[in-house]
Formats: sequence, C-alpha cells, structure tokens
Amino acid sequence: MIEVSKKCIGCTKCVPVCPFAAINMIDKMAVMNEACTLCGVCVQVCPVQAITITREEASARDLSGFKGVWVYVELTETGDKTHAKKIKQVTFELLSSARRLADELGEDVCAVLLTDKNHNYEKELGAYGADKVYMVEHDELFEYNTDIFTTVIVSLVTRHKPSIMLYGATIQGRDLAPRVASSLYVGLTADCTALAIKDGLLLQSRPAFGGNIMADILAPKSRPQMSTVRPNVMKMNEPVLGRSALVVRESAKLDKSLRRVKVLERKISHDGGGMKIENAKIIVSGGRGMKSKEKFKQLDELSKLLGGVVGASRAAVDMGFKEKTHQVGQSGTTVSPKLYLSFGISGAVQHIVGMKASDVIVAVNKDASAPIFNVAKYGIVGDVHEILPKLIEALKKN
Ligand code: FAD
Ligand code: SF4
Ligand code: SF4
Repeated sequence: MIEVSKKCIGCTKCVPVCPFAAINMIDKMAVMNEACTLCGVCVQVCPVQAITITREEASARDLSGFKGVWVYVELTETGDKTHAKKIKQVTFELLSSARRLADELGEDVCAVLLTDKNHNYEKELGAYGADKVYMVEHDELFEYNTDIFTTVIVSLVTRHKPSIMLYGATIQGRDLAPRVASSLYVGLTADCTALAIKDGLLLQSRPAFGGNIMADILAPKSRPQMSTVRPNVMKMNEPVLGRSALVVRESAKLDKSLRRVKVLERKISHDGGGMKIENAKIIVSGGRGMKSKEKFKQLDELSKLLGGVVGASRAAVDMGFKEKTHQVGQSGTTVSPKLYLSFGISGAVQHIVGMKASDVIVAVNKDASAPIFNVAKYGIVGDVHEILPKLIEALKKN
C-alpha cells in the first residue's frame, strides 16, 4: 500500500519520475492511482518524506495468483559495427531449466526482455523454450542500469505475478536480482547449482560452508521465488527452430532522472585478447603443483597448440601464476568445456564444483590419491614437469 501523508508540500517532484504515470496532483497533494506498481521511485525523490510504502508480511500474502516461470534476458555487446546486442548464452541455459520446471508445474515460461531495440529476439527465446516474451522497448534501456532496470522489473513482476524468476549469476544478474528482491521484499538464492520442483515449490540447491555441503532452499511464503544461476551450470536444450514466442509489449515511462549512475567510459580488458574462459571448448588448467609463474607459462604454450584457454586453481591465482579472470571454481568461473586438462591441481571441492561438468577431464598429479582423479576420465600419476614438456614436444611434432 502507498500513502501520502499531510507532510506533502505539493512540490510535484514525484510526478515526472513515476515510470507509470501513477501520480496526479489533486488540491496540491500527490495522489496515487491504480497504475502504481509500488516501485518506490517516488519515495526516493520526495524532499519531505511524505510518501510511504507498506508491504504485506510475507506470511499474509495470497500466493495463489502467482504463476509462470520467468527468465531475465541478458543482452551483451556483439562488438560488431551494427552495435546490435546478442542474447547471452546463460539466458538460454536458464530458459532450458525454466522449461523443465514450468512443464512440471503446468505453467508458462516467460522471458523478460528490456531493450532499446528488439532485433527479433523472440525467435531465439522461443526456440529455447519461452512461451511468452514480456518486452519493454525504450531508449533509456540502451544499456544496463541498476535503477532503471530494477524499476521496470519490479513493475512487471507486480503486474503479472510470476511464481519463479531466474537470473544469470553474472555481473549484471548479481547486481539486478538483489535489488529486485529487496524492492519486492522477497528472498533470493544466489549461485544455485540445481533447481527442481518439490511439492509445487522451487527447490534451490547451492553449495554452502565453503562448498562442503549442499543446502536445499525453499521459499514457501514469498513470490516470486528467485534464484541466480551461474553460466555453464545448467544444460542448454537443443533449440527448436521455428518455435517462436508470443511477444507481450509492456510500456514504461522512463525518465532520465531515474539514472543515478552514468557510465562515462567503458574499458574492456581481455588479458591476451583471447577467448573468455567460460566459452572455451578446451581448457588447460594449472595449480600450485606448477610451482612457479615461469613454469606455469608452459600451459600457455600447450593451450595455444590445442587452441584452448588457460585456467587456474585459486592457489595458482593466489601465488600470482595467473590472473584472477582465469580462476576456475566456486569463487572463480564455472566452466564446461569439451576437454579439461588439469596439471598439479589437487581437486578441492571448491575447484571441482567449477569444472565437473566438463565432457572429458584429464588430470596429471604426482599423488595417486589426489581427489581430482575421482572426477577425471583419464588420470596420469606423475611429475607435471616431466610430462608437460613431453606433451608439448609431441604436439609440436604432429
Ligand atoms: P593444492 O591443493 O596445494 O594442490 C596442489 C597439487 O599439486 C597436489 O595435489 C600435489 O600432489 C600436486 N603436485 C605438486 N607438485 C606436483 C608435481 N611436480 N607434479 C604433479 N603434481 C604435483 N579453489 C579453486 O581452485 N577455485 C575456487 O574458485 C576456489 N574457491 C574457494 C572458495 C572458498 C570459500 C574456499 C574456502 C576455498 C576456495 N578454493 C578455490 C580453494 C580450494 O579449497 C583449494 O585450496 C585450491 O583449489 C587448491 O589449489 P591447488 O589444487 O592448485 O593446490
Ligand atoms: Fe511511486 Fe512507483 Fe507508484 Fe509511481 S509507480 S507512484 S513512482 S511507487
Ligand atoms: Fe508531495 Fe513529496 Fe510528491 Fe512533493 S514529492 S508532491 S512533497 S509527495
């Protein structure tokens, strides 16, 4: 519920910032109409704190009207001259999961797309499982902005009441999802590694206590049930070509003043200019057993010969062998390449959780009881400093 107290001085500051034209000035007082989505933007601009929003206790909410599994669509630069953005792969992974969950619940999968220009995104979104696309097309959505995107998502959720909402655990998703959760007074489970339906609720599983146990989390008293999932964790379905989604266009009046943070300059560092580790098909990874930064460089050579990308354990990163952007694992990147080669990595649970979805894992370690061998398809017990040069030499010959 939204209320304007007698403190209102009739300054009208709240009127232009409301994205939904929900405020009228009547007798020099702000009065909210039924278009209000409780997004909270007006509360922030009122100079005399005259506006209050009261949200229902979670336990008092009627949850019966909440239906549908929503996926936040993340767009990323293509870097080409057209400046058109493309849909991030994690969105397709989430849609594939959402499809499975929605089928079990007998509900729809809806993609939520915020963009300045639609480039027929609904075709791909449909192919990966979306039934509907809630689309807001507006110039102010030309790039991600926390305030603006939160406002729009909160309003869409308030209007359409989804039961579940999934975000990628990316830089953007990790920024957006908590803001939406706190605006809506709902919970959020970050970095889920598995999602399922249990008694009609979303069962969200994620590592806890440093990855030593798996926690199963249910949110029986709030909606939407919200989770973030890292890229490469969920298996992506094969796209069904020709299966398009219904586009539901949503309007939003977005004022520039909503944008409290402005991006002045964007610098993209690709250390080495190569492919990002999360997209690599072959990863050559090293750990503390590589012993020094100099020796670690042999992995660069091997990786080049194989057309792959170099990965590292956290210990290797901490020792300065490789940049943090190459770290694989719980506090690094989750990867699922076709081939994962591991040299001098013990296989701590925090490392395994980030690479166990690889198709084929090959491990080299001098300790036959190293846990990495439990997930490796092929294991070589031996000294990396003997094996690695031989491998490089053999590949060079071939
Ligand atoms: P070690 O465990 O020291 O293993 C080195 C291995 O090299 C040993 O098995 C040894 O037998 C082998 N070796 C040594 N010399 C040779 C040789 N000459 N030839 C062959 N083998 C040799 N770790 C990650 O990797 N990624 C993460 O994202 C991550 N996140 C974490 C988050 C939290 C909250 C915590 C608590 C920890 C996290 N860790 C993470 C750290 C993790 O617990 C381990 O400490 C780390 O993975 C160990 O790295 P390592 O295998 O390179 O080193
Ligand atoms: Fe205020 Fe948002 Fe409601 Fe508009 S929609 S009146 S800005 S809470
Ligand atoms: Fe009243 Fe505050 Fe709106 Fe000004 S910003 S009109 S004081 S409610």
